Amino acid sequence: MQKSQEKPAFKPFVPHQDTLIRANYHTHTTWCDGADSAEAVIMSAIAKGYEAIGFSSHVAFPDTIPGMLDPRKGLEYAAEIRHLQARYADRIKVFLGLEADYIPGVTAPESSRYSALNPDYMIGAVHYVVTDDGSRVPVDNTPRMLMDGIAAHFRGSVEAYIRAYYRQLREMVSRYAFDIVAHLDLIRKFNVRNPYFDETAPWYCDEVAHTADVVAASGKIVEVNTGAISRGWLDDAYPSRPFRDLLRERGVRFILSADSHAAATIDCAYERFSTAEHFLTGVEWLGTR
Ligand SMILES: [Zn+2]
Ligand SMILES: [Zn+2]
Repeated sequence: MQKSQEKPAFKPFVPHQDTLIRANYHTHTTWCDGADSAEAVIMSAIAKGYEAIGFSSHVAFPDTIPGMLDPRKGLEYAAEIRHLQARYADRIKVFLGLEADYIPGVTAPESSRYSALNPDYMIGAVHYVVTDDGSRVPVDNTPRMLMDGIAAHFRGSVEAYIRAYYRQLREMVSRYAFDIVAHLDLIRKFNVRNPYFDETAPWYCDEVAHTADVVAASGKIVEVNTGAISRGWLDDAYPSRPFRDLLRERGVRFILSADSHAAATIDCAYERFSTAEHFLTGVEWLGTR
């Protein structure tokens, strides 16, 4: 059997020091739960003077989950992005990526599972906390669904639910080979408008520190994800400022990402995060590989 062609490791676009980032690698389209077509997003990126745009459709192969790419359309998705990549090659770099879910026992962000699509990079994500009996509690769907899930599957214990979330996340990070870790503390999404836990509680800080250790040891890139800002849930990125500080202390590399679900939001809060925080400027925050 012929071995498939080796691809170079994913190298995010590294901007000149102290310049606004002109790239986004976390982008959704009508292939999953985004509002606009991939081509409309590319036109927006070109209009904004972007150097690169990467598409990252939600996937959980072989599962079919509403709002995610239908596994039967995987090759079609890959073909369209490659077609657009060639078509716009003289104006912008286009990358084919995936935001692959980790649902223990069902799906994981592992390259062998998606080799037919031959993606340029993979983002690993936890959107469902899976219980011992295989039930799924949706992390970021609605506050109501989250609270019902914690009541039904964690006996109402928010601490047990959040510890299970981080355990699953650490398992994903340490077990599978992918490039970027998505929205590390997604469990914060509802915690401003519908507060349900104390982010300064010692047990929570322990989970965060332990997770920072595991992420640092993995060598994976962490995204500073502004998606909850564009959707009005939070006024800060994932992960939180204290979490970012712990990661930075451990030498973790960051990538700024909009987790965009529309052509207009591919640079949400970029100005703020690429200039306001010293460590998010220029070469240092993207790092090199
Ligand atoms: Zn996500
Ligand atoms: Zn996403």
